[in-house]
Amino acid sequence: MISLYDLHSHSTASDGTLSPAALVNLAVEAGVDVLALTDHDTTEGLAEAAEVAAGQAIQFVTGVEISVTWGGQVVHIVGLGFDPDNKALQAGLAELRTFRDWRAEEIGRRLEKHAIPDAYEGAKALSNGRLISRSHFARFLVANGYAPDMRKVFKQFLTHGKPGHVAGEWADLDRAVDWIKQAGGQTVIAHPARYSMTRTKLRRLLGEFQEVGGDALEVVSSSHSKDEIFTMARHAKEFSLLASAGSDFHGPETPWANLGRLTPLPDQVTPIWRDWPTHMAAISA
Ligand code: AMP
Ligand code: MN
Ligand code: MN
Ligand code: MN
Repeated sequence: MISLYDLHSHSTASDGTLSPAALVNLAVEAGVDVLALTDHDTTEGLAEAAEVAAGQAIQFVTGVEISVTWGGQVVHIVGLGFDPDNKALQAGLAELRTFRDWRAEEIGRRLEKHAIPDAYEGAKALSNGRLISRSHFARFLVANGYAPDMRKVFKQFLTHGKPGHVAGEWADLDRAVDWIKQAGGQTVIAHPARYSMTRTKLRRLLGEFQEVGGDALEVVSSSHSKDEIFTMARHAKEFSLLASAGSDFHGPETPWANLGRLTPLPDQVTPIWRDWPTHMAAISA
């Protein structure tokens, strides 16, 4: 039987709406065999997820989605299968969260100037004391009637050139890859078809990623069309990158990115899990 891999998901440790425990239980229900929790810039949810996964018919893989600035744009790098206790990795992620804290206050100040009071407090309350993402601002703004839905609220308030947008420097690409490598893991360029980049620039990103020791391209993502999957599979081959697959699940509210609901990887690519040890036999025995 072919195993179902979902190697990109979020919990309340960042901007997902399910706790790590609830996420793992839902993954088991959805028939996922191998799950990675990849919260933005934090590994805080991993221990709880691993604990709930132990003893169930699912293999849990440690993960994180690192915010990177490359070529003046934000790019996401997923790390998989690393040691969460690694000091270099944790120091790097802590830097990013310090920037995040400042940015959240700055977004609040900017929205305040735009006659939207208390957005920082609102987003903070929705984040339950964990890191604050633009998703928390988006939920606050929608809940308070400033925009009709999540897609529109980003477009009107939270993206480049809009009142609540704050530019800034996230991690460098080579550093992010290095943190994960030092912690013994593999790196993946997340949802590569979602960056507004020319084909030439994307190819430059793939080349640089490969040069600094990056491992894989997320060929299958819920946000990729069939055509994009095909194109990214070709790119993975051309740049000698492995292929990963993940839903980018953030919660049951977004049914178009459902846990485990993924198109299989195209035949021509090599899955990132090719050389992973398999514990599935032991679990089902
Ligand atoms: P941050 O890392 O705090 O800048 O937040 C980025 C997160 O916002 C992403 O990981 C997505 O979950 C979410 N996001 C970004 N753009 C959109 C969009 N257009 N619609 C819905 N969610 C979005
Ligand atoms: Mn997110
Ligand atoms: Mn992402
Ligand atoms: Mn994600």
